[in-house]
Amino acid sequence: MGLRTAIRQSATRRTDMNPAPSDRPAVLPLLQVVSPAAGAEQLDGALAADPPLEPSESFLAELAADSERLEAATPQAILKYAVDRFAPRFTMATAFGPEGMTLIHMLAEFAPRTPIFNLDTGYQFPETLELRERVKRRYGIEIEMKQPDTTVAEYEALHGGPVYKTDPNRCCFDRKLRVLRTAARGMYAWASAIRRDQSDDRKRAAIVGWDHKFQLVKISPLANWTKKEVWNLITQHDIPYNPLHDRGYPSVGCWPCTRSVQIGEDERAGRWSGFAKTECGLHTS
Ligand code: SF4
Repeated sequence: MGLRTAIRQSATRRTDMNPAPSDRPAVLPLLQVVSPAAGAEQLDGALAADPPLEPSESFLAELAADSERLEAATPQAILKYAVDRFAPRFTMATAFGPEGMTLIHMLAEFAPRTPIFNLDTGYQFPETLELRERVKRRYGIEIEMKQPDTTVAEYEALHGGPVYKTDPNRCCFDRKLRVLRTAARGMYAWASAIRRDQSDDRKRAAIVGWDHKFQLVKISPLANWTKKEVWNLITQHDIPYNPLHDRGYPSVGCWPCTRSVQIGEDERAGRWSGFAKTECGLHTS
């Protein structure tokens, strides 16, 4: 059964599993909960949350209107909208990049209880993991580390060696995308720290939009910000950041798939160097 067919068929089996009225954010009446789609494990298919949400046309139109209205808003105002509208079912994923650190700093000021998580692939740099402790000391926020089902050793044993060397798409899928799907269970919206000027893929990011892959509302408060604005805020407020940025790594991911860049290279040139891959798949539709 094709994925599209499965989604169509699961939509016809839709059931109303909405929580009690007191637990509902304002958006809920516009959403309906549907059964998980068969075939959701496909690398290029939808990775629906559990339970996945199917947005109505009016809900999508409302998101589009909100997005347009927030085009000129500050990242703080966009985050405030997200918290007002979707908390307590609003979450944020962070890889502890400079952009993510600025969002954590902003959330710490007015919504420090927002659940924030990291996709802990098992391949992160020690410097990245140490940043979690610095966030805790500075803001009192505990970033939840969400791990895949298998340890690195188990995963590599299962596949006869490091999958990132032969099939990084599969590795990212297993150790990031599937983990996000589980981490976002029960959530309606997630914030990402992407900027439109980072890559062609990210150019089209809406401030507020529907994330087809994860069946969640996706909010990108920094979509209109530049790298300079991010670093200005970090400097002004002494926001903690990954020391690898001072050693030639403008973008830091897992250590096997990240190298330092030379002057003049694109800021994401050090990610999956040698592969055509430029994104882990979290931010592509
Ligand atoms: Fe695997 Fe590399 Fe993706 Fe990390 S970035 S999950 S090591 S392929």
